[in-house]
Amino acid sequence: MKEAPRIGIGADLHRLAAGRACILGGVEIPSDVGPLGHSDGDALLHAITDAVLGACGEGDIGDIFPPSDERLAGADSRPFLDEALRRARALGFAPVSVDSIVIAERPRLSPWKDAIRASLASMLGLPADRVGVKAKTAEGLGAIGEGRAIEARAVVLLAPISD
Ligand code: MG
Repeated sequence: MKEAPRIGIGADLHRLAAGRACILGGVEIPSDVGPLGHSDGDALLHAITDAVLGACGEGDIGDIFPPSDERLAGADSRPFLDEALRRARALGFAPVSVDSIVIAERPRLSPWKDAIRASLASMLGLPADRVGVKAKTAEGLGAIGEGRAIEARAVVLLAPISD
């Protein structure tokens, strides 16, 4: 019997700090603040990576890439997603649809949505119309609204690879 599709959810939050590069979905966005993190702090890639791992029953990003690993200091987050996708393929699954939300008061993300979407689509091996990227603010409320943090949420649908 053909395996059923699998769904995964991911979320991530990073503090924002002055002087940090602001990388989201593998795209560097001009900004005077960027996410603090052991790696490059790409909250969107971390959320999508966790969603893929969740759909695979493979734990979370911290299990595979622990923050205690000195080799990962400042690391590009793209290999994290590559590893999650490799695990999905090993189980016979590939992503067919991804949707995501980034919540930030700053920097302003809407001009960058299409570039982020194209970057994610390339990494996921999907056409851009199977990848959603929505930019929201927090209406000035809480840590995100005060511009002290950025949050990303993602859902991923994996389907069996047909041969
Ligand atoms: Mg993270």
